[in-house]
Amino acid sequence: MSGFLFLLTNACTLLTLCYAAIKLQNKLGAFERIAAPLMAGTASILLILQPLPFGEIDFDLRALPLILTGLRYGYPISMLSAIPPLTYSYLMVGGSYEAIATLRDIIIPCVVSSFMYSSEQSGHSIISLHRSWQMSAILFAAHWMTGWYFSHSLTLSLHSAISVAAISGLFLAVLIMMSNEENRTWLMQRSLQLKANQDNLTGLPNLRSFMEIAEKTIQKHPVAILMVDIDNFKEFNDRWGHPEGDRLLREVGQRLMQQIGDRDYIARYGGEEFIILSPTNDLAYLSGLSRKLCDEISRLSLDYPITAEEITISVGLSTTTDKNEGLTQLIIEADEALYESKHSGKNRFTLHRKLSSWSLD
Ligand code: GH3
Ligand code: MG
Ligand code: MG
Repeated sequence: MSGFLFLLTNACTLLTLCYAAIKLQNKLGAFERIAAPLMAGTASILLILQPLPFGEIDFDLRALPLILTGLRYGYPISMLSAIPPLTYSYLMVGGSYEAIATLRDIIIPCVVSSFMYSSEQSGHSIISLHRSWQMSAILFAAHWMTGWYFSHSLTLSLHSAISVAAISGLFLAVLIMMSNEENRTWLMQRSLQLKANQDNLTGLPNLRSFMEIAEKTIQKHPVAILMVDIDNFKEFNDRWGHPEGDRLLREVGQRLMQQIGDRDYIARYGGEEFIILSPTNDLAYLSGLSRKLCDEISRLSLDYPITAEEITISVGLSTTTDKNEGLTQLIIEADEALYESKHSGKNRFTLHRKLSSWSLD
C-alpha cells in the first residue's frame, strides 16, 4: 500500500512541476534553453528526495523529466538537465548500487531520449506518443539487467522491471500529451498571427503589419519609403483576365521580395501597389535598389509565358530628412514621387522633389 502511495505522490509532484514548466515555456523566450535543463534537473532531484518505502518498491520517476527534456530539446540540453540530479546523487548517496542506478535512471534516459530527438524538431514540435512505449522498453531492459546483476534472480528483477516500464510508460505518455497540447495551442496561435499579418493573394506581409514595423523602425533610424506600382495593370487584366492578373501580382510581389536587402521590408499596399521600408536615408543605396527593382520586373516579360507585352513598374521614393518627419508624411511624399514617375513615362523611379536639394550624408 505504501508503495502505491509513494508512486502516487511521486507522480503528483512530477505532473505539477511539468504543468508549471510547460506553462512557463512560452514566456521564457531566449531563456527557454537555459531554464529547461534547470527545471528538469530540479524536478528530478525533488523526485529523488521523496524517500522510497522500505522493501516494497525500488524505483521512483526521476528519469521522466529528463526523458521529456531529451525528447523535446535533444543534446546538449538533456545532458545539462542531468547535471543537477547527478551532482545530488554523487554528494548525498554513494556505493556501487547508486553508481549503477545513476547510470540506469539518469544517464541512459538522457542519452536515449536525446537520440530519439531529430534535428528538424524544435522546442515546439509535437512528440510522437510512441516515444513513451519505446522509452519504457529501454527502462525495462535497464532495470531488468541491473536487478539481475544485484539480486541474481531473473524472476525477482523481471517483476520489478515490469512495474518500472508500465508505470513510467504511462506517466511519460501523460507528460507528452500535456506538452503536446500546450504546443498545439502555441502553434495554432502563431499560425493565426502569421495569417493575420499576411496578404492572402501575394503571401507578402499586409499593410497592417507593415505599419507596425515601420512605426517602430522610424523611432530608431532614418528610413525611406518606396511606393511601387505595376504599370498598365488594368490593360493586362482586361486582356488576359483577372486570374492571370492575380498570378502576375504574385510573381511581381515575389520578385520584389527577392531583390530587396536583408534589412528592407516589403508589403502589399493594396491593388497592384507595393510598399517598401528601408532603414536608411542613403540615397545612393536607395537609388540603386529602385533601379534594380525596375530592371528585375522589366525582365519578367522575358520569362512570363503568356505575354509579349512589357511588364514594368514605376517607383516613388522618399526618405526622412529630419527626425520629426512622420511615416504618413513619408508615404504621401513617396506617392507624389510615384505620380511623377507615371507622368514622365513609367518604368522608372523618381526621388521626391524635396530630396533634389538635400545633401547626402
Ligand atoms: P498605371 O500604369 O497608371 O498604374 O495604370 P494601371 O492600369 O496599372 O492603374 P489603374 O489604377 O488604372 O488600374 C489598376 C488595376 O489594378 C485596376 C484593378 O482592376 C486592378 N487590380 C487591383 N487589385 C487587383 C487584384 O487583386 N487582382 C487583379 N487581377 N487586379 C487587381
Ligand atoms: Mg495603382
Ligand atoms: Mg498601376
